[in-house]
Amino acid sequence: MTNSPKAAPAPRHAGAPAQPQAVQALGWLHTARFLTTAPELRFLPALDVPEIAFVGRSNAGKSTCINTLTQQKQLAFASKKPGRTQHINLFALGKQGATDAVLADLPGYGYAAVPKQDKIRWQQVMANYLVTRENLKAIVLLCDPRHGLTELDEVLLEVVRPRVEEGLKFLVILTKADKLTRSEAAKALSIMKLQAGGGEVRLFSATKRTGIEDVAMLLWQWAHPDLEPAA
Ligand code: GDP
Repeated sequence: MTNSPKAAPAPRHAGAPAQPQAVQALGWLHTARFLTTAPELRFLPALDVPEIAFVGRSNAGKSTCINTLTQQKQLAFASKKPGRTQHINLFALGKQGATDAVLADLPGYGYAAVPKQDKIRWQQVMANYLVTRENLKAIVLLCDPRHGLTELDEVLLEVVRPRVEEGLKFLVILTKADKLTRSEAAKALSIMKLQAGGGEVRLFSATKRTGIEDVAMLLWQWAHPDLEPAA
């Protein structure tokens, strides 16, 4: 996989003032609002703005991560409402009336209690979306580092590999980093860097607020490749 992102800005020390790029990126993410929901790709509107898809197994911390990045307590929990848990939920970003990107929240997979037929159907919906969604610009895979990549995560990586090789951006977020010791976190990070095949990897904690600015800046850059970040 050949992603060659711009050099990541140095992480900020706790208590230090936020970098202008981080303020810009977080302000942008905060504009997120519900756009639409659909049971599969063919019911989604065709869009011409960059789309960033969030994927991951159930309980990986995806909803918490989206809510934290957008600084909206309930946003991604819209995706957990009855009838929407198996849907693709889209959130628009950018000032009202000027949507410049979209976040796609894909259903969590691997939940043991789901009937096998539903699991298979869902894998097909997800693969179809990831392989053919035209405006898809980046994939964010949420992974709980205490469990590592699951079999379904590996399947997903295989499905998206050709698109990543063609330039689709890819980020693995290691969630709940507050549950790891410093050395466990360093180890999880280096293992995932090997597995992510050239994609980006970041540690993230909603409770300790680790990695939020860094991830926000990365997503902003990916959605605005032609704009210079705030100086
Ligand atoms: P989802 O199923 O992937 O959307 O996962 P959720 O966002 O619902 O999170 C699953 C569980 O992990 C919940 O109990 C969350 O409170 C917990 N969780 C999520 N993020 C963090 C985090 O950064 N730190 C800790 N300690 N727990 C978290």
